[in-house]
Amino acid sequence: MTIDFELSPRIKATKNMIHMFAESAVRPIARQYDENEHEKPWDLLNMVQKFMGGGVAGAFGTEKKDKGEEKEPKEKKPRETNLAGAVTIEEIFWGDAGIALAFPGPGLGGAAVQASGTPEQKEKFLARFSGEKPVWGAMAITEPEAGSDTANIKTTAVLDGDEWVLNGEKIFVTSGKSALEDSEGFVVVWATVDRKAGRAGIKPFIVEHGTPGMQITKIEDKLGIRCSDTVSISFMDCRIPKENILGSPEVVDKTKTEGFKKVMATFDATRPLVAAMAIGVGRAALDFIKQTLKEEGVELRYGINPHRMSSLERDIMQMEADLKAARLLTWRAVWMLDNGLRNDLQASMAKAKAGLAVTRITQKAVEIMGPIGYSREYLLEKWMRDSKINDIFEGTGQIQLLVTARRVLGFTREQLK
Ligand SMILES: Cc1cc2nc3c(=O)[nH]c(=O)nc-3n(C[C@H](O)[C@H](O)[C@H](O)COP(=O)(O)OP(=O)(O)OC[C@H]3O[C@@H](n4cnc5c(N)ncnc54)[C@H](O)[C@@H]3O)c2cc1C
Repeated sequence: MTIDFELSPRIKATKNMIHMFAESAVRPIARQYDENEHEKPWDLLNMVQKFMGGGVAGAFGTEKKDKGEEKEPKEKKPRETNLAGAVTIEEIFWGDAGIALAFPGPGLGGAAVQASGTPEQKEKFLARFSGEKPVWGAMAITEPEAGSDTANIKTTAVLDGDEWVLNGEKIFVTSGKSALEDSEGFVVVWATVDRKAGRAGIKPFIVEHGTPGMQITKIEDKLGIRCSDTVSISFMDCRIPKENILGSPEVVDKTKTEGFKKVMATFDATRPLVAAMAIGVGRAALDFIKQTLKEEGVELRYGINPHRMSSLERDIMQMEADLKAARLLTWRAVWMLDNGLRNDLQASMAKAKAGLAVTRITQKAVEIMGPIGYSREYLLEKWMRDSKINDIFEGTGQIQLLVTARRVLGFTREQLK
């Protein structure tokens, strides 16, 4: 199988269209929705739903299938859904990360339904994202004492007749308010059916908006991505239908963790997309400093002997190299997914590289620009704030390095913690 990262004409056309949209509709309101953290750009969100409903959803981790296409194609024909998603996401996040994260769509919750839901569950829970009105999906894993260490999840799910009863507290749920209060969405909640079983006992459950016993208890004020809502949710005797579990309810063998692994596999699809988000922000910062330097008559001399470069040239070329390396890792990870190859290692490598690269690139960009970088008159300081999240959510940079080290060195989770 040959790897070819020359983008297809279809992806190139989409990339250009999305870039124009990001430049004309997203970037101009970026500052406004950074300053007014808990407001939503409803006009834009309604427009996004109208023109991209389902398309943006595809870009955010769920596969949109052409009419007539088999649900699980047996034949390994090359697909580019995930590559198209990564390219699209880079462009939108170039426009603005906070606003892009606030776009309607299935989000991580929808990705989990797509990865481990039954055909009936997919039909019931994913159809709503292609409707007229914006709808959001969310995923609630993190708890006060369980983030990186997901095995420590304490939220419980107990079967009572035809219902699961959920009790516990979730924190830092992206788009939780959008999903549960601003639209008819849902949140996928990770809870344990058997604490003693460890990871094997942890299952994802779909909880619909408006379910009694579920309450948003806090809305975060954040450093960056301020247009995106992040909430805490409490579950107190929250009853959901028995069939709202994703995957099997069985804790087959307490020494095995297959069910847990299947849910974790959701991240193999979404981590490269988080990397693409980071790359979009990093590119915004790089474009800005290169344009500013150009306007000031500073020429960057590519191809000269490194010993003759100025420190500014060296810094900028290093930033460009880091961004390109991150993009290549990201495209490889999504290419593998499109071609039905296991990509957990590559997904973690892409996210580890992109998260760190964009954090460094935006900080360096502020340093190079000095007061222009620090002033709120420009967006550079915002990009520096927005970038850090890529090193935190969906597994921190350290966790990605840990996953990578385990796979490269052949160690188990128990051998390398
Ligand atoms: C804006 C925002 C949005 C979020 N959205 C969501 C969401 O939608 N859904 C959701 O469930 N969660 C979400 N999160 C939570 C996020 O995924 C967690 O914060 C993250 O996984 C880290 O977990 P933690 O907070 O428990 O930190 P900890 O795990 O306590 O980590 C603290 C520090 O210790 C390091 N560390 C931990 N374990 C190790 C180790 N074994 N080796 C080396 N270093 C280690 C970490 O890398 C980190 O630097 C969001 C967080 C933020 C800030």
